[in-house]
Amino acid sequence: MAQQSLMNTYNRLSVSFESGEGAWLFDTDGNRYLDALSGIAVCGLGHSHPAITKAITEQASKLIHTSNLYRIPLQEQLGDRLTEIAGMDSVFFANSGAEANEAAIKIARKFGHAKEIESPAIIVMDGSFHGRTLATLSATGNRATQAGFEPLVSGFIRAPFNDANAVRSIAASNKNVVAILVEPIQGEAGIRIPDSEYLAELRDICDENDWLLMLDEVQTGNGRTGRYFAYQHTYIVPDVVTTAKGLGNGFPIGACLAKGRAAEVFMPGSHGSTFGGTPLACAVGLAVTETIMQENLCDRAAELGDRMLQGFKENLEGMPYIREVRGKGLMIAIELTEAGTELAVLAKVKGILLNITGGGKVIRLLPPLIMTDAEADLLVNTLCKLIKIYAADERSKPRK
Ligand SMILES: *Cc1c(COP(=O)(O)O)cnc(C)c1O
Repeated sequence: MAQQSLMNTYNRLSVSFESGEGAWLFDTDGNRYLDALSGIAVCGLGHSHPAITKAITEQASKLIHTSNLYRIPLQEQLGDRLTEIAGMDSVFFANSGAEANEAAIKIARKFGHAKEIESPAIIVMDGSFHGRTLATLSATGNRATQAGFEPLVSGFIRAPFNDANAVRSIAASNKNVVAILVEPIQGEAGIRIPDSEYLAELRDICDENDWLLMLDEVQTGNGRTGRYFAYQHTYIVPDVVTTAKGLGNGFPIGACLAKGRAAEVFMPGSHGSTFGGTPLACAVGLAVTETIMQENLCDRAAELGDRMLQGFKENLEGMPYIREVRGKGLMIAIELTEAGTELAVLAKVKGILLNITGGGKVIRLLPPLIMTDAEADLLVNTLCKLIKIYAADERSKPRK
C-alpha cells in the first residue's frame, strides 16, 4: 500500500480508521478518538447509526439505481420532505455540495437570460467557499482555491462578507446582477457568523432589485446550527438553498431547493445528473431527515452547542493566544491570535479529531448532533487543557 498512487491533493494526518460508533472512531491500532469533526459536518448522526445502516442495507438489497428517465418514488418522497422542511417549492438532487451549487448558479443564469440580461452576474462574498468545480471555485472567495486554475468562470462579482451596504452599492452601479450566493455562516473561512440582520438586509436588496437570494447551506444545513437550515433562525426565506454534507450522513447526496420563480426556471433538458437522486441515495436522505426530525436533533444541536460554547468561553476567553470563541449550534470556532496548525496533530494524540481552518488560526469543531453531554464535556475539558499547555509552550519560545 502506498500513498504515492493517490494524487497529491491532501495533507493527511497519519492515522486511519477501521470502524466507528456514535461520536467515536477506532483506528487500525485499536485507539479510540472522539470525533469533533464528523468528516467535515457530514456524519451529523455519528458513525454506524442504526437507522442509516438499515436504510442502506435494505434499499441496496432491493434497488440501487434506475435512471432519472423514470419516476423514482423515493426521490419524490425525499423531495416532499425537504421542500416541506425548507418552505421551498421544488428540488433538484445532485451528488455533492459543489454540484448542488452548480445547479443554483445555472438557475440564476437562466433566470437572468429570461429577463433578457445577456451577461448575468452573481454577487459572491470574500472568504466564501462554494466547492472545487470550475464554476464553484470561481465563486469561492479564496485565492488559494483558484490559483493555477485560470481562466476562471466569469460572471461573479465579489463583495465583503457581512456588509450589506457594499452589496447596495454594487446594485446601484451594475445592471447585470441577477442573484446573491452566500453562506449564512461561512464555514471554511473559520465559522464567520454575520450580524443577525445581515440575511434580512440581503433579502430586502434582492426584493428591491428583482434578484434571487441563494443560500449555500451545504455545511450549515441539516440541523447543524440548531435549526434544520440556518436561515430558519431568521424570518426570511431564500429563493434558492443548496445543501449536501449532512444530508447523507456519509452517503453522497446534494440538493438544490428553489421557490417561486426560481423553481420554474429549469425545463426538461436544462439540467441533469446520472446519479442524482438514486433510490439508494434518497432512502438514506429520508432516513437522515426522519431521524433528525423525530429525535429533535435540531434542538439538541442548539443545546449541545450552547453547553460547549459556554465551557470554552469560561475556560479560554481572555487568555493570551485566544482571539475569540464563537459558535452557533454545533459550528464552534476557537480563533487563535497566531497560526496553530500543529494543534490538529496534538489533539489527535489526545484522542480528539478536529480541524484547523481560517488560515491556520481557527480551531473548527463540527461535532455530531448525537453527542452525549458527557462526551461534550470530555471534548471541552481535553481541548481546553491542550490549548492551555500549547499556548504556554508557544509563549516561552524565543520570538523570531
Ligand atoms: C463543503 C462545502 C461545499 C462543497 O461541497 P462538496 O460536497 O465538497 O462538493 C460547498 N459549499 C460549502 C459552504 C461547503 O462547506
